[in-house]
Amino acid sequence: MRMEVKHIFQISQRAMKPLVQKYGSPLLILSTEGIRRNYLLLKQYLPRVRVFYAIKANPDLRILQTLQELGSSFDVASAGEIELLHSLGVPGEKMIYANPVKTKAGLVACGNCQVTKMTFDSASEIAKLQELYPQAQVLLRLRIQNTQALVDLNKKFGASREQALELLQQAQAAGLQVVGLSFHVGSQTISAAPYKVALEIAKEIFTQAEALGIKLRVLDIGGGFPIAARNTSLELEKMLSQVNTYVEQFFPDTEIWCEPGRYICGTAVNLLTSVIGVTARDGQPWYFLDEGLYGTFSGVIFDNWDFELLSFKNSTARVKATFAGPSCDSLDIMFRQRETVPLERGDVLLVPSCGAYTSASATNFNGFSKAPVLLWEEVSSQIEI
Ligand SMILES: *Cc1c(COP(=O)(O)O)cnc(C)c1O
Repeated sequence: MRMEVKHIFQISQRAMKPLVQKYGSPLLILSTEGIRRNYLLLKQYLPRVRVFYAIKANPDLRILQTLQELGSSFDVASAGEIELLHSLGVPGEKMIYANPVKTKAGLVACGNCQVTKMTFDSASEIAKLQELYPQAQVLLRLRIQNTQALVDLNKKFGASREQALELLQQAQAAGLQVVGLSFHVGSQTISAAPYKVALEIAKEIFTQAEALGIKLRVLDIGGGFPIAARNTSLELEKMLSQVNTYVEQFFPDTEIWCEPGRYICGTAVNLLTSVIGVTARDGQPWYFLDEGLYGTFSGVIFDNWDFELLSFKNSTARVKATFAGPSCDSLDIMFRQRETVPLERGDVLLVPSCGAYTSASATNFNGFSKAPVLLWEEVSSQIEI
């Protein structure tokens, strides 16, 4: 069922207890080697594509630095993200401000950090850029229907195919440099088919725009690339190679960009969390963990993600249990009716593939600290396994 395991960073069962004993619980372990592997695999399958890592998925500095060393560019959405990358020495040329509705503060940051690439999807944004940022090089963000995506970003953003040509003309008439189109097929898209649909639509618009005297030279195919998820099968390499085939078929001479978030960071982080309380209600066990919905498991809510919980306990018994977080809010329940081996207080669980939309949206609600993130490449030599 699982994707080829070689692409997924997972600490060994033997390392779990020593890590928690030395560094405490809950604990996040990041492998920068995992980040490297994911980036290089994407470049291997989509060799002509320029990668802009969508930093909202996980803005950990060590991820950003690893990608910077590999030559990656970055997708940003706010003044804060632009300034963060600028402070790390990332030139504005390597950023795209891919938020179709920009703030004034964001545009001020663009000016300070020489960011000129940006997306738009409305006439109101054209007017805003004409007024506040006339040097913008813009890509029109298209809306692509994709009901299969885990998180459908097209409910919020994107111009329809019918609006596209008019908006491109308006942007050009407003004096903006119109460079291309962008789309996002939706996060965690596990087949190449939605990319094909989007590429076909983009191709049509490229052709029609050219007839109107607008020469588009860049196509940004967005993010959405998947990671292996619990209870689903994924043929990642086959899918990436299909996306590349479609790109080459429809856009052999166009500069291609992409904006992966989840794909780059999702599999490179593991969570260790401990059972801190056990009870039974209506005959069903409840396990309280030291990490919850307001922490790393925020992805349950914000990202619809179904996390895998590994206990490695040797038992053939199975129960259906509720897993709750440590806060005093009754919302703080992650999983209900989750089949598991029976657990007890002190057991440590390993949650693989929890690098995307997890710590990025964690809070300090109720006074709980965010789980610290340690580097596997540093701590692995510090523990006795
Ligand atoms: C969130 C986002 C991404 C990253 O999406 P993933 O599904 O994590 O790859 C890329 N581009 C834009 C504009 C986004 O908002």
